[in-house]
Amino acid sequence: MKLFTFKGGIHPPERKELAEDKEIEVFAAPKVVYIPLIQHIGSPLDPLVKVGDEVKVGQKIGDSKGFMSAPVHSSVSGKVLKIVKHPFPVNGYANSVIIENNGEDEWIESKAVDDYTKLSSEELLGIVRENGIVGLGGATFPTHIKLNPPKDKVIDTLVINGAECEPYLNADNRLMIEYGKEFVEGVKIILHILGIKKAVIGIEENKEEAIEKIQNLVANEDGIEVGVLKTKYPQGGEKQLIKALLDRVVPSKKLPSEVGVVVQNVGTAKAIYDAVVKGKPIVERVLTVSGLGVKTPKNLLVRIGTQFKEILESVGIDEEKTEKLIMGGPMMGLAQFTDEVPVIKGTSGILALTEKEMNSYESRSCISCGKCVSVCPMNLMPLMYAKLARFKEWGEMDRYNLMDCIECGSCQFICPSNRPLTEGIKIGKAKLRGMKRK
Ligand code: SF4
Ligand code: SF4
Repeated sequence: MKLFTFKGGIHPPERKELAEDKEIEVFAAPKVVYIPLIQHIGSPLDPLVKVGDEVKVGQKIGDSKGFMSAPVHSSVSGKVLKIVKHPFPVNGYANSVIIENNGEDEWIESKAVDDYTKLSSEELLGIVRENGIVGLGGATFPTHIKLNPPKDKVIDTLVINGAECEPYLNADNRLMIEYGKEFVEGVKIILHILGIKKAVIGIEENKEEAIEKIQNLVANEDGIEVGVLKTKYPQGGEKQLIKALLDRVVPSKKLPSEVGVVVQNVGTAKAIYDAVVKGKPIVERVLTVSGLGVKTPKNLLVRIGTQFKEILESVGIDEEKTEKLIMGGPMMGLAQFTDEVPVIKGTSGILALTEKEMNSYESRSCISCGKCVSVCPMNLMPLMYAKLARFKEWGEMDRYNLMDCIECGSCQFICPSNRPLTEGIKIGKAKLRGMKRK
């Protein structure tokens, strides 16, 4: 079998086995949900409800007139208790609607579409936006914008990211196995929106069951195929996927549309199916809860707004052993300062990691071994970044194409001297963005 891949990358311990065979379990809706009014890249939302209002499941509770935005919906039926700042898993605190669940699970009236092929792209993009769909791989970019590329770019191929290359995570893998039919229908809806006929679904070779399932489902679908990818990190990076599957190179500082491609994640395709065919906005998502600090790792279907601590209590967390709580994967995920943060649309995983899993050794001087350069999937010079950041040489970092870095952390993972490469990169990028804004 031909395996597609890209140059560079690493192979960290997969640790997928902790949860990969666990079927998705429905996590009971909690008594109270905490729904942040920003769950996408872009403008924060304004609340559409006030304290004391009764809401239903799927009711829109926050929206914005800002171009780059996607609304949020209530994930339970009940009463709005408060609209206040609450711990937020992306950074600190966010304005959030706190709703008490009345246990009735009353839904808003469904606006399901009988035959999506009769709708125009514009109509379907409107449905995608109204249902709050964003990139569910973790990036949370509003999907209706991504599916509407600039008119001067000719798109010919849809690439579906089913790589799920981060260790521990199994949400996309389980979705393909358990909701394969819905997922493939979602892919077909996206093709209809883009007005194209070709889709390649990239799945890493370590997901044998998902590969077989999806290959069978697309066997009679013209133009949709599965590309089996080498198991390697960061195989799911957009530019890496496009190079691996189509042998096209997205130029520096450009988007996939530059080479005729739109990339979407597995979960996003399934969410588009739910929105169009079932009339269901994003009120829940599949995530993996894992790590050696968790007693029974699982894949769960969880309501948006459920606090991490409720999920961790249900699977059993070893507080003594757990050193770090992460949202997402261990390579690109976000460390959490409290377990009171809620599940948001971008929560692909909750990891409770022990010291043994974290590799925390002291940093030493660079020995110029070049390993970080050889693994960098973006052909950058990572060894320079920590050094330049130390001397605040932000302009010089730009000269080394810092903004092309996808923050995958491969360089830091491989470094024998444990240099704080990604820290320097993140600081440098923030400084450069600030300089460019002035
Ligand atoms: S420099 Fe950036 S893109 Fe390259 S390996 Fe390091 S984190 Fe990844
Ligand atoms: S891997 Fe680490 S020690 Fe080797 S060149 Fe890069 S920064 Fe230096």
